[in-house]
Amino acid sequence: MAEKNKIMEKIVSLCKRRGFIYQGSEIYGGLGGTYSCGPLGAELKNNIKQLWWKKFVQDRSDIVGMDGPILLHPKLWEASGHTAGFRDALVDCKECKKRFRADHLVADALGQDLEGQNEQMSELIKKEKIKCPNCGKTNWTAVQDFNLMFKTQINSIEEDVYLRPETAGAIFIEFKNILDSTRMTLPFGIAQIGKAFRNEIVAGHFIFRLREFEMMEIEYFIHPQTDWPPLFENWLKQQEEFIMELGARKEDLRRFEHPKEKLSHYSRKTVDIEYKFPFGFKELFGLAHRGDFDLTQHSKFSNEKLEYFDQEKNERFIPHILEPTFGVERSLLVAILSAYTEEEVAGEKRIVLKFPKHIAPVKVAILPLSKKEELTRPAQEIFDNLKSEFVCQYDETQSIGKRYRRQDEIGTPYCVTYDFDSLDDKSVTVRDRDTMKQDRLKIPELKDYLKEKFTE
Ligand SMILES: [Zn+2]
Repeated sequence: MAEKNKIMEKIVSLCKRRGFIYQGSEIYGGLGGTYSCGPLGAELKNNIKQLWWKKFVQDRSDIVGMDGPILLHPKLWEASGHTAGFRDALVDCKECKKRFRADHLVADALGQDLEGQNEQMSELIKKEKIKCPNCGKTNWTAVQDFNLMFKTQINSIEEDVYLRPETAGAIFIEFKNILDSTRMTLPFGIAQIGKAFRNEIVAGHFIFRLREFEMMEIEYFIHPQTDWPPLFENWLKQQEEFIMELGARKEDLRRFEHPKEKLSHYSRKTVDIEYKFPFGFKELFGLAHRGDFDLTQHSKFSNEKLEYFDQEKNERFIPHILEPTFGVERSLLVAILSAYTEEEVAGEKRIVLKFPKHIAPVKVAILPLSKKEELTRPAQEIFDNLKSEFVCQYDETQSIGKRYRRQDEIGTPYCVTYDFDSLDDKSVTVRDRDTMKQDRLKIPELKDYLKEKFTE
């Protein structure tokens, strides 16, 4: 376990050192559960979102995209049950003032799952003298519910509004607009990528549990009589396929089906895809059969009929929904964890991020062997020639060996070196990140060579 925690420490430190991810508001002492992406993190995150959008929206004729607002009408959250029910139970240590999730405290101490049973948890915490994980004392408040939505105000209306705790709501309320404006026919999906906010009691594990995060979600609408289990299985496979396209290994994935008695009353089936993080198997993605709950509720609360009309059969009904959900930051974390490699090369340690080439934040580095102008000028010309095709980095400082290591550490698949021989033979050396093999080729052939490498 110590070794595994070390890996998280190494990743956190690499992410900061090389400009992938920083703690949010760091110079002010940090703001828990938030983070910033640095230059490379922003590239990597964009690549992940673009890959998702291409795979699930642009490459499919049965799914369309949308982009809804973060601020949504407060009635939406009444209809969805979030205003009343989106809660976690918390308990405070009166000694050190630390706050914990009561169900996690009880589960960790006694191995019992009493989520939702606040009185029993209050009693048990006292009776079993469960110790505060922070200070070791046993002086607890009663267990209380705590709504996880962030409240805010809009000047012109009296009611509180909320920062959305999930993106799905924005999709349900545009169901009719999208049907009317696109003529999609069942089965079809609506996809969205966007931020969501949850006032988590305990955030943590780097970017695993955040208070502000991004989700990639699809609401897939089906006829209520559809034979849905094969579709459900297919969605799970596609979710697994997506994370493997980011570099995850199949053996680090497993499925967890929520037991029937823990399901929301409307859900027929819910499965989490879990990933073997260094801190244990944890939820990565989710898939739920939500029945007709959402559209029915929003029809009721809005008085707008959110139905589907089948012209051929002259039939009107509320479709059922399959909902695959993907976390952006968890995908980002898995991509970095899967890529992280330490190797021995000629007696030296080499750290490499072996990203699949298509998501690497920098695709090609251009490195003149020395800072002499006779080399830097032509090297810059190569950079200018390649930059419209690939995300490139030009680097002329320090020894070539150090520059290779720097590019390895950020996962750049190819380094192009312009040396003194290049002046005569008009050729450059291309070094492969993973094999460290070097190819010598003529400069005019470089672009096509790299293009081919990236489509392999
Ligand atoms: Zn305490």
